[in-house]
Amino acid sequence: MHFDKDYNLLVPTYSRDFNTCFYCGCIATEHDYAPPIKYREFYLATKEPSDFVKIPCCAECNNLLQASKGGSLDERRDFAKEKLAKKYDKALTIYEMWSEHELVSLDFSLRHSIEAGLKLGEETTERLKYRGFDYEAAGVHQNVQFNTPKYFDVFGDQFSTFREALDFASKAYRIPKNTLKEYFADNDNNFEKAIHAIHKEVAEKDFKKQMKSQCGAFAKKYKQSVIFVHKQVERYMSEDEEMTINEALERLYEERVRPSSSHILK
Ligand SMILES: [Zn+2]
Repeated sequence: MHFDKDYNLLVPTYSRDFNTCFYCGCIATEHDYAPPIKYREFYLATKEPSDFVKIPCCAECNNLLQASKGGSLDERRDFAKEKLAKKYDKALTIYEMWSEHELVSLDFSLRHSIEAGLKLGEETTERLKYRGFDYEAAGVHQNVQFNTPKYFDVFGDQFSTFREALDFASKAYRIPKNTLKEYFADNDNNFEKAIHAIHKEVAEKDFKKQMKSQCGAFAKKYKQSVIFVHKQVERYMSEDEEMTINEALERLYEERVRPSSSHILK
């Protein structure tokens, strides 16, 4: 794996910590990467904070961390703890609320489930408290060759650092920095593509909202089913890309809702 050379393996200082998850103290069977391999290019190009370390971790932490783009060890540890706490929220609450001796008075099935919650809650509390192990961290960063581009381009404006480009783009296009940064990383490290993707998403959300309110109002006014109105409007609009929701609703009215004159005459 060619990317592996960019990452320093976290090696525990003490042998008792071998094969231990750095994040929660369980048995380590996998490796987590800070930053994630998928976002390696992003961190190499932008020099955003990142450690370039390969971290022994358990399958569960590894799985929870799939959702994190974080580049540093601390960031990933916080993320893993937060997700663990959320996942075992119920058990943690039981652990906080109940103590062993209170269980005696409960009937069997309730006692059984509270006991299970207590055990899981205690285990989770230990994992959340785990501080990580001492490790050899010499040479972190030294392996990494940052291939920072000469400049970052935002629709023709050029900036020598990612921070400056992000700051400019965020203000010019009124997009929060964190959102823009995430989209940048997910769109080939390209501001133009990132901004287009964000605008597209906003437009789609807006369109859905419009559809919901306009079709809903139409359905109510003419006593039609909302699903029917939605389906018809979608069909009309797919046949004619220029058509607006309003025009589609007018057509629907003319074709399917308005009482025909012959009908009235009868
Ligand atoms: Zn773990």
